[in-house]
Amino acid sequence: MEFLQPATWEEALDAKAEHPGAVPIQGGTDVMVELNFDMRRPAVLLDLGRVTELTGWDPAGDRLRVGAGVPYATVIDALGDRLPGLAQAARTVGSPQIRNRGTVGGNLGAASPAGDSHPPLLAGDAVIEVESRRGIRMIAATDFYRGVKRSALEPDELIRAFWMAPAAGPQYFSKIGTRNAMVIAVCSFAIALYPEERRVGTGIGSAAPTPLRATAAEEFLARELDWDAPLDEAVAREFGALVAAAAAPIDDVRGTAGYRRHALSVMARRTLTWAWRDHLGGTGRSGRGAA
Ligand SMILES: Cc1cc2nc3c(=O)[nH]c(=O)nc-3n(C[C@H](O)[C@H](O)[C@H](O)COP(=O)(O)OP(=O)(O)OC[C@H]3O[C@@H](n4cnc5c(N)ncnc54)[C@H](O)[C@@H]3O)c2cc1C
Repeated sequence: MEFLQPATWEEALDAKAEHPGAVPIQGGTDVMVELNFDMRRPAVLLDLGRVTELTGWDPAGDRLRVGAGVPYATVIDALGDRLPGLAQAARTVGSPQIRNRGTVGGNLGAASPAGDSHPPLLAGDAVIEVESRRGIRMIAATDFYRGVKRSALEPDELIRAFWMAPAAGPQYFSKIGTRNAMVIAVCSFAIALYPEERRVGTGIGSAAPTPLRATAAEEFLARELDWDAPLDEAVAREFGALVAAAAAPIDDVRGTAGYRRHALSVMARRTLTWAWRDHLGGTGRSGRGAA
């Protein structure tokens, strides 16, 4: 196996152009598992660990541009105040060791429907910046996921960063697993309120071939919510039902399709209730994690 170690982003792009089949490795928390279990034997590994351009973040206009190599621990510690939904999701990923190594870029590269960063990226209107020697593409998260572990990334492209605006209102993430930590989601849900725009963003994980938004549920809330009043219980319940209806789950070892739909309706109703409490309380931010 050939092992390439570019020192800069430019070198990494050159290497990917020359070896489109090369498998990028960032934190290695997915790639090394696949190698160790002989699930994958690539001819070329492209180590991005020395590419410092990937490990920073900057304000970019009214959004944040976060490098693909920023680990979950940093998302939690340094960006948790601005990206609270994503930070909540990051807190549920693996163990401290996995959160120190694992990255949002790697989660995007793997494109697993169960990846925990995907629901908050969808709810938060994230855009994924990918680059190759052919140029840069900005891909909305809604267009990024193409199938089970398949993304819009072309063979010569690398993920450079994701772009997301700091929270405009309360955000929450909720995940159900077979236990409380070190667990792949049976299903998960993220919500982001945009009080000024009078709209709500959503993201569903592990309940369809790809992560997805519950578009009809978002449209329902945009129509029905009275943003100055307490949350109407009937509206919250219907929101839950619409989120469940948006999913396309399967029965597998982790849970049945029926259980996933039920769990999603509960998580949607609960996260909306928590977010609404914060909204009316005027904190403008989410304050509570949920796993
Ligand atoms: C014990 C354990 C527990 C885990 N728990 C969770 C969990 O709770 N939730 C969860 O979502 N995941 C979990 N994971 C999976 C993994 O940690 C995450 O998917 C993590 O985000 C991967 O990031 P990484 O940097 O380690 O990626 P890597 O393993 O380096 O790469 C992952 C994939 O992305 C590609 N890739 C990496 N960087 C780029 C780039 N810049 N451009 C293009 N492609 C790229 C790689 O080629 C590979 O296909 C767990 C893994 C382990 C081993």
